[in-house]
Amino acid sequence: MSTDSSGTHDDRQEASDDESAVAIARRQLLRAAKHLDIDSSVIERLKHPKKVQEVTVPVEQDDGTVEVYTGYRAQHDSVRGPYKGGLRFQPEVTRDECVALAMWMTWKCAVMDLPFGGAKGGIAVDPKALSDEERERLSRRFTEEIRHVIGPTRDIPAPDMGTDPQTMAWIMDAYSMQEGETIPGVVTGKPPVIGGSKGREGAPGRSVAIVTREVLDYYDRDLTETTVAIQGYGSVGANAARLLDDWGATIVSVSDVSGAIYDPDGLDPRSIPSHDEEPEAVARHEVPETLSNRELLALDVDVLIPAAVGNVLTDETAPEVQADIVVEGANGPTTTAAAEVFRERSIPVVPDILANAGGVTVSYFEWLQDINRRYWSLQRVNDELESEMLDAWNDVCAEFENHDVTWRDATYIVALSRVADAHDARGLWP
Ligand code: GLU
Repeated sequence: MSTDSSGTHDDRQEASDDESAVAIARRQLLRAAKHLDIDSSVIERLKHPKKVQEVTVPVEQDDGTVEVYTGYRAQHDSVRGPYKGGLRFQPEVTRDECVALAMWMTWKCAVMDLPFGGAKGGIAVDPKALSDEERERLSRRFTEEIRHVIGPTRDIPAPDMGTDPQTMAWIMDAYSMQEGETIPGVVTGKPPVIGGSKGREGAPGRSVAIVTREVLDYYDRDLTETTVAIQGYGSVGANAARLLDDWGATIVSVSDVSGAIYDPDGLDPRSIPSHDEEPEAVARHEVPETLSNRELLALDVDVLIPAAVGNVLTDETAPEVQADIVVEGANGPTTTAAAEVFRERSIPVVPDILANAGGVTVSYFEWLQDINRRYWSLQRVNDELESEMLDAWNDVCAEFENHDVTWRDATYIVALSRVADAHDARGLWP
């Protein structure tokens, strides 16, 4: 069945058929490809990962028994440089989800014009059910299982859901011990004391805030007169909330897994601990009103930022959205059917691969710092991130106006044309 760039019954029909992450990722690729003159064999290659490593990870538990986990590393495309992308520790991790997330990383790196391709990996495990020692053994053994496919010039993992700087430190140590030398550039998102970059943890939220500011400006809206609701109060949601609040926006609602808090006069995001600072602190915060996560999505605000998990904006929840603009903080929060609803309702949606790309951009800065063994100030990191985000935003704006498409399509057009041009220049070997 074909998808039609003008929109679409076909899209809705196809969407209802399969809303798996990989199906969504493939449809987004095909949609963007329609606007570009790209060799069909390149598109065919980009529909599939280059390689997916599936590994068994046996881990001794604290009680002496051995639990066996399944881990993955999906590598999508490396035409522009080494594979890059996060590692998730989450019960729902599957091969297909890693493939989709790896595809999104290819586009995310390309839209930011970083010299990286896309990868993603993870282990199907609930990290909260493990002790620190069990998580350490799991991280080290997983590193050993994927050691031959990662490396500072091959594939560079980073934190994602359920992993953190400490996980990256264990991976860096396990890799370095086996290679016989200290190799900080094998992962990014490390603690600064072993070669992590200043500003890396706050970077995805910072880019969400920058892009929110820019899209409001594009539509001639004043940030200081803007109300914002943010689903998810992890690193992305909390950092975006705090910066937007600093810049004068009013954050009226935030949430975590246990529910949302709402104050029409504005919350003080700095007084609410993020999920990383104090798990599930949002619901304990004293406020006039509490809401469900679904009610948060339907609030009458200027900007809605889904910054929790994927697939929350669906054909059921998207029609309820009253926000004027959606900025995607999480990876893949909008299903294809929901994207169609927003297109029909003329609600601009700034996509994840642009909005939260600050994370991988500062990962790139970290990798450069590790290679050069010379570290940057926080000011330099934030200044360079601001400038990279503005360059990407301006490139996307140009395509948005050239093609009269959605923000998502415009972003994909920028990314895909860079990847396709690189394939074209390199050609097919042999
Ligand atoms: N996991 C993050 C993302 O989804 C960062 C990836 C990276 O820094 O390599 O963008």
